Amino acid sequence: MSVNLDTRAYTGNRVLLPSSQVPQPATILVSAKTGKITRVYEERHVRTSFPDIADGHWVDTGDKYLLPGLVDAHVHLNEPGRTDWEGFWSGTRAAASGGVTTVVDMPLNSIPPTTTVEHLAVKRSAAREQCWTDVAFWGGVIPGNQDQLSNLVDAGVKGFKCFMIESGVEEFPCVSESDLRLAMSALKDTSSVLLFHAEVDDHSAPALPGDPTQYSTFLKSRPENFEVDAISRIINLQKEYPALRCHIVHLSAAHALPIIRSAKAAGQKLTIETCFHYLCLASDTIPDSRPEYKCCPPIRDAVNREALWAALLDGTIDYVVSDHSPGDIMGAWGGISTLGFGLSLLWTEGRKRNIPIGTILQWTSTKTADHAGLGDRKGKFAAGYDADFIIWDQTFVTKESLQFKNKLTPYEGLALFGRVEQTILRGKPIYNGIQGVFEGLEPSGVLL
Ligand SMILES: [Zn+2]
Repeated sequence: MSVNLDTRAYTGNRVLLPSSQVPQPATILVSAKTGKITRVYEERHVRTSFPDIADGHWVDTGDKYLLPGLVDAHVHLNEPGRTDWEGFWSGTRAAASGGVTTVVDMPLNSIPPTTTVEHLAVKRSAAREQCWTDVAFWGGVIPGNQDQLSNLVDAGVKGFKCFMIESGVEEFPCVSESDLRLAMSALKDTSSVLLFHAEVDDHSAPALPGDPTQYSTFLKSRPENFEVDAISRIINLQKEYPALRCHIVHLSAAHALPIIRSAKAAGQKLTIETCFHYLCLASDTIPDSRPEYKCCPPIRDAVNREALWAALLDGTIDYVVSDHSPGDIMGAWGGISTLGFGLSLLWTEGRKRNIPIGTILQWTSTKTADHAGLGDRKGKFAAGYDADFIIWDQTFVTKESLQFKNKLTPYEGLALFGRVEQTILRGKPIYNGIQGVFEGLEPSGVLL
């Protein structure tokens, strides 16, 4: 009998298939040559069922979960230009360590920002050979670049991000309503999506909110109304361009949920994401003088957090992303580093609420893949899809403070459930979570 050198098999008792919210016995065959899933069986196999598969290509995950890799649709990799904040190499390694197999990079913080086809080419060449996960790109809408947008769509960007309030970096200015009409009209006949940083300064924040070292002062400077006002403007504007999908990034304010619910009920093509930190932290327990908790919009109170969970469960919020953005914390840019343990955070909180792992992976993998135009190859286990897997030890509990590369993290010291034991990208291991190492592995990410 000849040995089949191309096929790898993953079998186990707890494999998350798209047909169920609960892991089940299954076997997945993968072609090493194409990195694609070739066959999914809804049963666990024993080694002797496939005698032609080489020994080293047979992986039995036992009672551990085998899950689709995360597609994190909101990550700031900042290269070239602000690589001291984050870059393709370090950012995609952090992602791989958290079971993320695809990241979608935001257009700002890199210099130049991804607002023209030439700038996209600069970014792609900076990324080459450096990526441990697959990487896709969002483009940017800034005042005056509307003529670039359809070329950027042709060049492969998955959609466009814009700001309705100052972004914090001067090369990525915010847009007015007339800028938005130009952009929306340029995109209305494409299948692209327009992503909004939905805060507007409606002057409802107090002029002198208080002691700058207190988190409550920062919270008062970015009130919920900034988000509610921006989202109601977006909903109105979208009525002029109903074919164009609009998307709200990093929703924090639960007060905006009623208008989102009615716009969705009226059939508007509106999607919403929130972030791990809004679901797992609350302002009530944030200590003062800790800039690592600073992000925009801010983390709000525990009542707000529970309303976000309810909105995820009823489908008002569609996705969960990291908004991973280790920034210059002493300066204008605020951002939280979450790549690397988003799934542990969500799994820990989800367990308390009896949420099945399949529901969680819908928010982080299946639906985010669709959102970024990758739903035909990423985000679930099916024949023809990329073999992007996580082997997940769902019973593991961190006993000590987690090890973080970036020391400033709001999650330090939290007891978390669940751990990535291995991350596999298109059939190749990219991270060994048991030892916490990349040793012997190589960056095999491609630019999508
Ligand atoms: Zn962001």
